[in-house]
Amino acid sequence: MMSADNERRDEMEHRTEQLFAHARAAKGFMPDDEGTALFHAARRAGSDHPTTGTFVEVGAWCGKSTVYLGAAAEATGALLFSIDHHHGSEENQRGWEHHDDEVVDRTTGRIDTLPFWRRTIDAAGLGGSVVGVVGNSSAIASHWQTPLDLCFIDGGHGEEPAWADFRGWAPHVAVGRWLAIHDVFPNPADGGRPPYELWCAALASGEFVEDGECGSLRVLRRVEPPTEVR
Ligand code: SAH
Ligand code: MG
Repeated sequence: MMSADNERRDEMEHRTEQLFAHARAAKGFMPDDEGTALFHAARRAGSDHPTTGTFVEVGAWCGKSTVYLGAAAEATGALLFSIDHHHGSEENQRGWEHHDDEVVDRTTGRIDTLPFWRRTIDAAGLGGSVVGVVGNSSAIASHWQTPLDLCFIDGGHGEEPAWADFRGWAPHVAVGRWLAIHDVFPNPADGGRPPYELWCAALASGEFVEDGECGSLRVLRRVEPPTEVR
């Protein structure tokens, strides 16, 4: 006979596997091992919360990373706010490296990943744990009030948008909680500089310490409150 606890654990593991399959099937830029690491970081961030954990994702695209994070939100009773204007970063535009013609809206000629994001979240059945926030991430950051248990930065990777996200969002991470940054490449031959520079700045500030990595994913834990002037 299986105990009720074992049965519940089996069900949860089954659900997590099912969600990972949805994440793998979604369009996007998150390798499965890094997504799984992101899930574990978020589950830890959500699990010891006395009420409802709050997660923010900056840069959702078609919802691939959203599903890994949403799986952790669902498992821990947290809520994930997934932020994107859904018009793509500079590097997603036509003629750039990460363009995908399928996400171009035929009427406007502009990238619009919102319908793809919504389909991903609905197919995964994550509507109860994930809230889509459509708009400019730094505008949203400047009006944000809730302390974050986990903030995942994977928005625009150019100098300006990357630093705007870091300056806007890192201060919202509560002491003892987590900041994750994607596409951190110490070797310039592997990818663009800004995400790596944010990671260096976070460590140099003395406010964050390293707390895990997988591929280009870096997880940091806030150990000191943010300084007033940035
Ligand atoms: N995490 C995604 C990939 C994100 S790609 C995955 O797992 O596949 C980067 C995303 O950041 C794009 O969808 C782009 O629209 C968004 N983005 C870039 N700059 C932004 C800004 N200033 N405000 C909101 N979203 C932005
Ligand atoms: Mg990325």
